[in-house]
Amino acid sequence: MSDPFAFDAPPDRYIVVGNPIRHSQSPFIHRCFAEQTGQRLCYEAMAVDEGGFAQAMGNFQASGGKGMNVTVPFKRDAWQSVDQRSPRAEKAGAVNTITFANNGDSFGDNTDGVGLVRDLEKNRKLSLCGSRLLLLGAGGAARGVIEPLLACAPAGLVVANRTAERAMALASEFTTEGNIEGCGFQALTGRRFDIIINATSASLAGATLPLPEGLLTGSDTAFCYDMMYAAEATPFQRWARQQGARHTADGLGMLVEQAAEAFYIWRDVYPETAPVITALRQRLQAR
Ligand code: NDP
Repeated sequence: MSDPFAFDAPPDRYIVVGNPIRHSQSPFIHRCFAEQTGQRLCYEAMAVDEGGFAQAMGNFQASGGKGMNVTVPFKRDAWQSVDQRSPRAEKAGAVNTITFANNGDSFGDNTDGVGLVRDLEKNRKLSLCGSRLLLLGAGGAARGVIEPLLACAPAGLVVANRTAERAMALASEFTTEGNIEGCGFQALTGRRFDIIINATSASLAGATLPLPEGLLTGSDTAFCYDMMYAAEATPFQRWARQQGARHTADGLGMLVEQAAEAFYIWRDVYPETAPVITALRQRLQAR
């Protein structure tokens, strides 16, 4: 963190890198956090060409940058490029938050999982402990949230994916962490879940997942969550409502919560997320 009494010092610099990056909401979110907490910093978005991550990271660090957020498709590259990784980044196999230390070391963390769990438990008031969870998808986003979800002690976690083998292979990596299994979509027939989380990118393409009917318990608390976010309900949220889910949410809260954790790592102060979630929702809807 910069010296608060060094009035003439330039603000600490942070960036988010990805491709595409034009629509990233991270600069807006971090500027809101900085204003709210009185932190002097500058946060920009930067597009990086495929294959160019390590070079971009080195250049930014050499120019005095203090930290980086990393989004699609570079989270794995970031994992490989940093000098040290947190235990949760190690497990996730992906890094979304990098801190550059004064001694030249780079430290990689992953805040996606904690962001999802905080959005579900703190903002949505859901209890994951003892719940039957279904996680759809077996890509980077799914991998990053499995360990934090299992740490909440659900009754069970089923990972289901279009390519069943990927779900089975992913689940098998986490069997020591809790009750987890992997399968394809059709193998879900006849099963019931309290909470279904969509970590596929199907909603991005406007596609509906070929899921069997009746996956949700009939209870009032059955809940469906799409990690993708949009101004309107996503295709997955619409599917969930047709299936009788009373409550659904998109991933906007997760986005803000993972950013808050990154902000805390960098600035040692935890911002309030609720007003930023509201402001971001209004911004999306005003477009
Ligand atoms: P990946 O490309 O790593 O994985 C994509 C996954 O989606 C795979 O499991 C793939 O299945 C599945 N999939 C893609 N298209 C379809 C389809 N038409 N039908 C069924 N399954 C499909 O992506 P990520 O894991 O990185 O991201 C997934 C989603 O999570 C994105 O929408 C992303 O925006 C969101 N996300 C949101 C965050 C937030 O903060 N809100 C944070 C991180 C991610 P298969 O293996 O069969 O190809």
